[in-house]
Amino acid sequence: TYVVTDACIKCKYMDCVEVCPVDCFYEGENMLVINPNECIDCGVCEPECPAEAILPDTEADTDKWVELNSKYSAAW
Ligand code: SF4
Repeated sequence: TYVVTDACIKCKYMDCVEVCPVDCFYEGENMLVINPNECIDCGVCEPECPAEAILPDTEADTDKWVELNSKYSAAW
């Protein structure tokens, strides 16, 4: 899955949401999140993010972000 990280906070761009083929972005408290159960790992959103906030969970130190993305996307 891909995850949204803290660079998203206060970012007002929604480019990622528009390109996602499965609409798996949700609104967290102060940032967008990706539902890891719905993300199909296509990678289309990553280059669209102007804040470079979106990373694949294979990158180092993304564990807490995976958790947070799960938590906030599950609320919907
Ligand atoms: Fe959506 Fe693809 Fe990004 Fe996953 S990797 S959030 S499916 S655009």
